[in-house]
Amino acid sequence: MVIIPHSRPWLDEHDSQAVQEVLHSGQLAQGSKVREFETRMAQLIGVPDAVAVHSGSAALHLALLALGVGEGDHVILPSYVCSALLNAVNAVRAVPIVVDIDRETFNISSKAVADKICEKTKAIIVPHLFGMPADLEALRRFNLPLIEDCAQALGSTYQNRPVGSWGTLAVFSFYATKVITTGEGGMVLSQSRELLDKIRDLRAYDNRTEYRMRFNYKMTDLQAALGISQLSKLPRIIQRRRTIARRYFREFAQLPVRCPADLLDRTHIFYRFVVKVRGRLANILKESASQGVQCQRPVFRPLHRYLNLQGFPATDAVYQKALSVPIYPALREEEIDKIIACVRETIG
Ligand SMILES: *Cc1c(COP(=O)(O)O)cnc(C)c1O
Repeated sequence: MVIIPHSRPWLDEHDSQAVQEVLHSGQLAQGSKVREFETRMAQLIGVPDAVAVHSGSAALHLALLALGVGEGDHVILPSYVCSALLNAVNAVRAVPIVVDIDRETFNISSKAVADKICEKTKAIIVPHLFGMPADLEALRRFNLPLIEDCAQALGSTYQNRPVGSWGTLAVFSFYATKVITTGEGGMVLSQSRELLDKIRDLRAYDNRTEYRMRFNYKMTDLQAALGISQLSKLPRIIQRRRTIARRYFREFAQLPVRCPADLLDRTHIFYRFVVKVRGRLANILKESASQGVQCQRPVFRPLHRYLNLQGFPATDAVYQKALSVPIYPALREEEIDKIIACVRETIG
């Protein structure tokens, strides 16, 4: 049986030509293509500049280093997110302060953040999960450095302004399953050139007069060329995602599931289409797989469970009920039909 995967990149002839040009040029590592990709991303988001790195994880690590977050400092982050965020906090030897989420948007709860702020708090990491912008207005009122995690939200807007332009820093990922891809890749954007200069300095280790621990976090021109080509398709990518989402909203309206929120003051790009089911999630996952549709838990395991922490009622409730239904521009019409039929069958 042919399985419809949970995600698949959307690549075309234009993408492969862009990569081939770099191959033929002989300049493979970081060079002019990386610089061009950075400039285009900064323009799109509306910030002065950007620094490309080799993953979203590297971007998070460097964002914390640039803010001077270190041993004993507190960094607030939501539980319902991948462990890349926890890794970055641990990498700078800060204390992760994991908080609960909002049940409707799946994003960090600003009320839960307020309860945890103290004089040790040095930063808040704010993922815009599944393409839905977090409550930026409330979060900015804390007057603490915000790191927007836009790994799933390239092209989303909040109050008509792109996410990634609101925080002190913003990180993006271009991993193979993300909104646009370079295979692996990431970027840090900021309104502050000073912070970006620090990040640019920390991205490469070679040819320095003074020693300080630096990593090789660079992106290659091969990846950047693919990124530039993919970025040129972003409006079509988002339009396609929203079109499929509208169809799912319509088709799932009569089923015993709760469809994602779509709020007026922000645009959801539907990086993921996450519904809350009534039945047992494990059974639904198994049943849909046997019908040839790979649905997933959108977050593999909440952070508070890795850390054996209690008191995360919203995260626990969402984790037990959230099902991610395939949604991506590379889906063909007959695949979308099959996904809808499968959801009806397994959930209806
Ligand atoms: C994918 C992802 C990351 C990590 O990015 P990598 O490029 O895989 O290191 C971080 N945060 C979020 C919300 C992600 O979805």
